[in-house]
Amino acid sequence: MKFKSKYIAPIGADGIHVLNTGDWRTQRPVIDHEKCIKCGICFLYCPVNSINKIEGEFVISYDYCKGCGICAHECPKKAINMAVEEGK
Ligand code: SF4
Ligand code: SF4
Repeated sequence: MKFKSKYIAPIGADGIHVLNTGDWRTQRPVIDHEKCIKCGICFLYCPVNSINKIEGEFVISYDYCKGCGICAHECPKKAINMAVEEGK
């Protein structure tokens, strides 16, 4: 699933750059949609606004998710598992 870029930072002398904060992630949250009750708590707590509700399901944008695990910690149904990022 493709998301539009939401995070830009005016750094560097040559103009505005897009920061994909997902580039430094070592763990990736994975939602178990069988357990998810669609409460939206993960959406509210994500510090980089990487969780969106699309067609009734909460989905994670891995372009910006930095793997902090807050969503997994706060999910009341333990529906988010943190998996080791491949290649790290
Ligand atoms: S916090 Fe957990 S149960 Fe609630 S919407 Fe997110 S994944 Fe689903
Ligand atoms: S791991 Fe952190 S950055 Fe990634 S979706 Fe969960 S709360 Fe957001």
